[in-house]
Amino acid sequence: MTSLEEELRNVPFECRRCWHVWEEEYLVRHVHDRHGNESLIWLRAGQPVPPPAPGAICPRCGGQQATTFPEGYLSRHPELIPPPGPVAPDATPLLSPVQRPIY
Ligand SMILES: [Zn+2]
Repeated sequence: MTSLEEELRNVPFECRRCWHVWEEEYLVRHVHDRHGNESLIWLRAGQPVPPPAPGAICPRCGGQQATTFPEGYLSRHPELIPPPGPVAPDATPLLSPVQRPIY
């Protein structure tokens, strides 16, 4: 007999380059085999992925120096989470008024 258990885990990451903090949601599947061994399969978007580990890529700066926190860390440190308030519209146009030279 094998049994299947699945749980959602939010794993907090922090970038050591720009100090950006974010969470990634994983589905963790516990697989018990007939010998009583348990193994964990980490899934994202239904695809098996390596377990979260230091070295994740920061979505903000692209740095590869992110570290993981223990699960639940952010709930004890809410000051790390940016407030979800309305974002002020940015009046600065994204396009530069200076024309790029055409190579
Ligand atoms: Zn970063």
